[in-house]
Amino acid sequence: MRENNCIFCKIANGEISSRTLYEDDKFRVILDLGPATKGHALILPKDHYSDLFELPEECAGDVMKLARKMVLKMKEKLGCEGFNLVQNNGDLAGQTVFHFHMHLIPRYRADGQKIGWKPQEVSGEELEEIKNQIVD
Ligand code: AMP
Ligand code: ZN
Repeated sequence: MRENNCIFCKIANGEISSRTLYEDDKFRVILDLGPATKGHALILPKDHYSDLFELPEECAGDVMKLARKMVLKMKEKLGCEGFNLVQNNGDLAGQTVFHFHMHLIPRYRADGQKIGWKPQEVSGEELEEIKNQIVD
């Protein structure tokens, strides 16, 4: 399943070259062209799914297993001390390429990056209301 004019479909399936760290029949892992830190990589499924909303359950499990395998290898080879796994869904959430991908971002002491959010204040009542909204 590929989508015409999807750059990550072309990269994942080898039509456009990339710095590939890993490849199997379902996935390609490449170096990001605009890295947050040294070794910033992307896991790309070879099939086209726009985002996590479309990703089949089995593939989602495979992505996490592959992420684990990659971070173990990259930690050993690059000597990074931490990792952020980032996965954006929807333009509101910062997604810019609409082919599912997971960012693997190695973290080094004093690497100058900050991946996070501004914590908001919330009351116990609000938390309870939100929980009830989500839980069946
Ligand atoms: P996102 O904002 O989560 O959709 O992330 C898209 C990521 O893809 C960004 O980190 C870009 O630097 C990266 N990117 C875009 N085009 C390419 C490309 N041709 N090869 C490698 N990485 C790319
Ligand atoms: Zn695609």
